[in-house]
Amino acid sequence: MFTGIISQNIKRLMKLLYIILLTWLVSCSAKTQDLQTISSDTMKLRTLTEFESYVIRDKGTERPFTGEYTDMFDEGVYACKQCGTHLYTSNHKFHSGCGWPAFDDEIPGAVTRIPDVDGSRIEIICSTCKGHLGHVFTGEGFTQKNVRHCVNSVSLEFIPTTEKLYDTAYFANGCFWGTQYWFNKTEGVIKTTVGYSGGNIENPTYEQVCSGNTGHAECIEVIYDTSKTDFKTLAKLFFNTHDPTQINRQGPDIGEQYRSEIFYTSAKQKQIADELFVELYKKGIDVATEITPFAKFYPAEEYHQQYYEKKQGIPYCHVFREKF
Ligand SMILES: [Zn+2]
Repeated sequence: MFTGIISQNIKRLMKLLYIILLTWLVSCSAKTQDLQTISSDTMKLRTLTEFESYVIRDKGTERPFTGEYTDMFDEGVYACKQCGTHLYTSNHKFHSGCGWPAFDDEIPGAVTRIPDVDGSRIEIICSTCKGHLGHVFTGEGFTQKNVRHCVNSVSLEFIPTTEKLYDTAYFANGCFWGTQYWFNKTEGVIKTTVGYSGGNIENPTYEQVCSGNTGHAECIEVIYDTSKTDFKTLAKLFFNTHDPTQINRQGPDIGEQYRSEIFYTSAKQKQIADELFVELYKKGIDVATEITPFAKFYPAEEYHQQYYEKKQGIPYCHVFREKF
């Protein structure tokens, strides 16, 4: 009798487990279908070979010193093999001797870090298609940035180019909260960081810069996609969103840290800045903007970054006025 009850209970348990398993399988297939639908709608995923799929989708690892990009240092950009998103440029690449391609930085926003299932390492995946790239390590001292993206060659596709796909511009025009507000709204801008530049003190604090004795100006670093915008567009935005005739101030903000200045990083940027300066001068605008070579940029404290985004406000000090 007891045996009968036990076997009946086992049958019930088996049935329950079967239902749970069936429910799980149905929900999984729905998820897969969702993903496929999203993928085909929003991005074109390349068909992968068996080995590419093993690394990119099943998070496998190619054997060291076997990948085609491990020791390649040609000029170009490294894209995600699966979806084509640009992930790294050859400027980020360095020789680590570890057996896999190594990069000490990524194209802003292109790579996502997630805790590895092994509980200790940090896995890196393509931010767009979530394909597995490899792992990221810090504190090894390989380069000044002290970061090593250890990436499987097979997760990447190298696109040779002599053209600069991404560039950086540095502008100072008063309180950097308002400057960042406007540059963040601009098409082609990939990343902005507020900070300090033009002074003599290393790693200055906000309080030091506010004292007006460091020589630093409140400044913005703008990384932009050169296929979508250019330095001239950004420099025009710079002039249109502040009063370049004011010396060492912008409205209520007074002090040399609030001066108007373009820190150019190339002869081409200088030429464009000079041309815009003359164009405004000819319009009767007595421009006080300084145009000087870029030296060093120090990111400001975290609470200054994306200030108006966090606060959901509008700048008091930077109003858009078309001048061109
Ligand atoms: Zn991708």
